[in-house]
Amino acid sequence: MRQQIAAANWKMNLTYQQGEQLLDTILKENIQLDNHHEAIFAVPFPYLIMATQKLAGRKNYFVSAQNCSDQRSGAYTGETSAEQLKSIGITHCVLGHSERREYFSERNQSLAEKVKLCLANDITPIFCCGETLSIREVGAQEGFVETQLMESLFHFSETEIKKIIIAYEPIWAIGTGKTASVEQAQEMHAHIRTIFTNHYNKATADHIPILYGGSVKANNAAELFNSPDVDGGLVGGASLVAADFLTIMRALKK
Ligand code: PEP
Repeated sequence: MRQQIAAANWKMNLTYQQGEQLLDTILKENIQLDNHHEAIFAVPFPYLIMATQKLAGRKNYFVSAQNCSDQRSGAYTGETSAEQLKSIGITHCVLGHSERREYFSERNQSLAEKVKLCLANDITPIFCCGETLSIREVGAQEGFVETQLMESLFHFSETEIKKIIIAYEPIWAIGTGKTASVEQAQEMHAHIRTIFTNHYNKATADHIPILYGGSVKANNAAELFNSPDVDGGLVGGASLVAADFLTIMRALKK
């Protein structure tokens, strides 16, 4: 079975102390993850070390950054490199979140650089893709997402691409409380898997976890995750409430 993943994206929420408390409350539940289950916490940069210390020794619990630089190192004030993330033990990095694409003008080509630098530093990219409402309304979502994947990912080798996690996040569903229906999510996930089959092969496509993101909540996670091509979720708002994220972790496919 593919890896099934509950990934929390805290975005720019919570103070350090609130973040500590949230992790403590989640970890107190002591959920033991199976080999094919993972919990990932994408926390703000200043909390990365604290989170790795709290998660140390827990099987299949990981800490993720929410972004990294598209440059290796040097005079880029305010940026953080993949190598720097690796040097503090970070194993995952969210890349291409729609908020970064929209507010920080991230483009597919620059994301390709970020993916390359993460892979070179043994960091697993959680690569986000997904369409806006206007693209969905004209039914162009499949081609739009294919272009995002093609321009950022499809020059990587089969070995490299197998190290990536995909998060399909329809932008109209992020933070809006408007979740894609189970049918819409499954349809796009199956389509994304077909794109990977066409560009690589079926074995590679079957290996890659595709998470759904967009108003995953405690009360809809199980239904969404039950779909054959939905391998868990990238969760924003609901990941800030311990009880909700615990329910979402427990909703991963058995
Ligand atoms: C996200 O942060 O990627 C996300 C999907 O947010 P939300 O769950 O709040 O819609």
